[in-house]
This record gives sequence, C-alpha cells and structure tokens, in this order.
Amino acid sequence: MKLVNSISRMSTLVKMLKKEGKSIGFVPTMGYLHEGHMSLVRAARKHADVVVMSIFVNPLQFAPAEDYDKYPRDLNRDEELAGTAGVDIIFCPAAKDMYPEGYTTYVDVEGLSSFLCGVSRPGHFKGVTTIVSKLFNIIRPDIAYFGQKDAQQVAIIKKMVKDLNMDIEIKSMPIVRERDGLAMSSRNVYLSEGQRSEALVLNQSLAKAAALVKAGERDPEKIIKTMAEMIAKKPSVKIGYISVVDSEKLTDLRAISKEALIAVAAFVGKTRLIDNIIVKA
Ligand code: AMP
Repeated sequence: MKLVNSISRMSTLVKMLKKEGKSIGFVPTMGYLHEGHMSLVRAARKHADVVVMSIFVNPLQFAPAEDYDKYPRDLNRDEELAGTAGVDIIFCPAAKDMYPEGYTTYVDVEGLSSFLCGVSRPGHFKGVTTIVSKLFNIIRPDIAYFGQKDAQQVAIIKKMVKDLNMDIEIKSMPIVRERDGLAMSSRNVYLSEGQRSEALVLNQSLAKAAALVKAGERDPEKIIKTMAEMIAKKPSVKIGYISVVDSEKLTDLRAISKEALIAVAAFVGKTRLIDNIIVKA
C-alpha cells in the first residue's frame, strides 16, 4: 500500500493507472477509520482494479465553532486498517496544498444543501462538494463510494455529479452499526459512557418509526411526534431535527406513499450525531 501526500505525485500515479487501463474505486474519508469506512473499501475492492482512499479532515466543511481542531486523527492506525481492508493507495494531502493562499473557487449544490443539516450548518455542504470535486479531479475515479449514514451528503453528491456531467458512478452503501445499534461514527469517541448509552435512542426511535410505517402509519407528523417523545426521555440528548423526507429531493413529505427517508440529528452532550433509515410504504 502506498501513502501519498503530494497532489502532483497522486496525479502522476493516476495517469499511470489510466494508461494501464486500470479502473479506480475511490473512498473519500476524514480518517479515524471504523467498520463503516471498511465496508466502503470492501465494496470498492470488489468492483475496481485499484482502490484509493483519501484521508483529509477538510477545514472548509467545519464552521469556526465546530470540532475541526479536535476531530480525532490517527494516521498510523488508519494505515494499518486501510491496508488490511484492501486499500492500494491512501491519499492524505495537507490542507495548505488543497487550499493554498488565494484559493477562491467553490462548488455549491443549491437547494439540497440548505435542508436538514444545512439549516444548522450553513456552508457545510459547500465545503463537502468543493473538496469532493477537487478529489474527483485529482483521483479521476470510475466509481466513488459513500455511506448512507450521511444520506444528505449522498443525495447532494449524486446531484452534483449529474449537474456537472461528471463521469463517475456514485455508490451508496448501507449504514454500519455497533452491535447495540449505534451508527458507527468517528465522533462516537467523544461520548462518555452515559452519553453513549443515551445515544442509542436515536437508532431506537428510527426503529420505532419503521415499525409504525410497517404497521400502516403514513402520517409524518405522528411519526415525528413518537420519535421526539422517545428522545425527550434522555436528558443528554437534544434534538436538532427529525424529518420525514423524499430520499432524493430531501423535501418534507406530507404523507408516506412510496419510499421515505426518516432522518434525525441530535446533540448528545456536545457531540452532534446523525442517523437515518429508509422506509417503504
Ligand atoms: P467520514 O470519515 O465520517 O467523513 O466518512 C467517510 C465516508 O464513510 C462517508 O461516505 C460516510 O458516509 C461513510 N460512513 C461513515 N460512517 C458510516 C457508517 N456507520 N456506515 C456506513 N458508512 C459510513
């Protein structure tokens, strides 16, 4: 496995791979890897000749008061895990090289970026789409893998690729959970034992919502109310939003008729967590 820091070295490697006719599967991450990231690598391993993973904590997608500085980082551990899962190249550029002085170009997917997490994190998705575009241009993947854990991110990236005619297939992979149901996240390390146990209510409330839909409930308001009541019983969990939306357009549904994305964001102590589930009527 190669570890590449330099953008020009990465570009040279990509040129060589393209010349050899190799397909490239790409897994963008911010590192501090867990089984969720590994599931993306394994999917890429199955379908592409070469698997490239980027590890880059992207300053552009963090607001000043957010956790950019303390976001967990451990490159040695990441290298080991990535190697075991079948990554061929880790690309981990420096922020000063990705955004040199005088940098002024951004990619913004309007509409989709302003719903759900976009309400409390304005500018976040503009940071995401800008870095993903840059990484796509450097790595030139045939297929890129994203987690359904970040459902809004996947919807936005798919729209960006369509709107900008990028010739890249976007694959969305299922949410990987801890044994007790908590969605895996690099940010879970921030949780105290008590918070960790109360955070389970997010997945539990989504499971309850899915059960309600299965039993015939079609009214988003009733589903949201049930979820909110469950979550309110956990003192360290503060709801950001609970939404029942169209899984592509991310617009609120007035009734569940076919498929719906039920998404929740909450602060558990100072840690912001998200989770979601797709339900079918
Ligand atoms: P991150 O390092 O948190 O930016 O995540 C990198 C990629 O891994 C994104 O496409 C995420 O959606 C995906 N991912 C993160 N957590 C999970 C999870 N629990 N299950 C599946 N994919 C995940």
